[in-house]
Amino acid sequence: MRYQQGDTIVAIATPPGEGGVGILRLSGPAALRIAKALCGLAPESPNWPARYAHFRRFYGRDGQGIDHGITLYFPAPHSYTGEDVVELQGHGSPLALAALMQESVAYGARAARAGEFTERAFLHGRLDLAQAEAVADLIHARSEAQVRAASASLEGAFSKAVDAIYGQLLQLLALVEAGLDFSEEDLGTAHDSAVHHGLETLQKQLLHLQQQARQGARLARGGRVILAGRPNVGKSSLMNALAQRDAAIVTPVPGTTRDLLREEILLDGLPVELIDTAGLRESQDLVEAEGISRARQILQSAQLILLVADAHTGWQAEDQAILDTLPSIARLIIWNKQDLVTSLPKAPAHEACLAISALVGNGLDALKAEIMQQMGMENSACVFSARQRHVEALADTTEKVAEAVHMHHSAAPPELLAQSLREAANALAQITGKIDVEDILGEIFSRFCIGK
Ligand code: GDP
Ligand code: ZN
Repeated sequence: MRYQQGDTIVAIATPPGEGGVGILRLSGPAALRIAKALCGLAPESPNWPARYAHFRRFYGRDGQGIDHGITLYFPAPHSYTGEDVVELQGHGSPLALAALMQESVAYGARAARAGEFTERAFLHGRLDLAQAEAVADLIHARSEAQVRAASASLEGAFSKAVDAIYGQLLQLLALVEAGLDFSEEDLGTAHDSAVHHGLETLQKQLLHLQQQARQGARLARGGRVILAGRPNVGKSSLMNALAQRDAAIVTPVPGTTRDLLREEILLDGLPVELIDTAGLRESQDLVEAEGISRARQILQSAQLILLVADAHTGWQAEDQAILDTLPSIARLIIWNKQDLVTSLPKAPAHEACLAISALVGNGLDALKAEIMQQMGMENSACVFSARQRHVEALADTTEKVAEAVHMHHSAAPPELLAQSLREAANALAQITGKIDVEDILGEIFSRFCIGK
């Protein structure tokens, strides 16, 4: 059991460092008592009115002033966590905040774990699990598109869609179960076609939601593109052209890209990490060899490899050697230095190609569009953010519904059909955390920041 009833937690909610305002947040049954103590007030002093800002001085146990500022009291259940919450908004002084934190602990609070406020919000039903995850995604957003998508999920856009399908699954299950005690003849074709129709509708809606969730998850996670190719074909130049600034050192001397150079670009709001490899070739140089082994590891996690080749020199044995060692990830041959040639050289058979000039800028828009497509992003104006965990739960749900459809069509016993639908509903319910999520909570909330 992660949650202990009766525990009052405390954390500094504002980011570390100096700032205009620093906020200490308490949540739990003793929150008000501890806040009163911090303000030099007795436990039996009148309770503070709900959600009113009061200017107060904050003291240590020795009666010495630590800071002054504003107190806010949010009585349960109308607070972020669903428990009694008090905020002390003082100056953004790391030492004053640390002192207040220490005093709170002395008065009986416990330092909160990462994400513990949001975890409590989930456990008290203030947020469902997908919404709680959206809180973290909003905090960690690196682009405006990510902010918008996470905000939509936080408002419940994703959860609502999940709940709607969940409701339909339960309805269909009830329909199937209602037929359990009757024979085929008794039920007639109306029942059969209602089940048939229900299953079909479910499949369509699941497919749609899955597509949205996949894009939402990609947007939240960002993508990764590898630039591979022999030295001097223009990998660094391409990286710079896409990043539109001089991040990589571009020089005509082969082998200057010693290690993995990473650059994050935003494609339509989707953060994409571009990784310029060490050239992926054997090297006597130790530093470079290290770069090569790291490159190979990272290759596996990319969605797309751009194999850059030189249109001026044409396809060479070394290009082929690199092509032959690429892992089986989507790839595209980029004929760079298009500006130097009037016609493109012959590419290896069955390989998709795109001609560009990193120097002049030709073909970059087409390349960006191609990258987006490989990321599975129709556009980055995603309806909501999601996570891989959600995509997998939707895949499990879809699989169970497909199973049910198969049973329905092969006239399997309705008990089996009902069982598949029940399993589908359970898989779906994991997204919002309706059931069976105890063992993933630690993993989800530990990735939050302290104080959220
Ligand atoms: P890398 O070793 O693959 O990273 O290649 P670089 O980006 O360092 O480029 C090698 C050389 O090719 C440099 O002199 C670049 O200026 C030149 N270069 C890169 N892209 C182009 C291009 O599109 N057209 C022309 N003409 N030269 C290019
Ligand atoms: Zn049917």
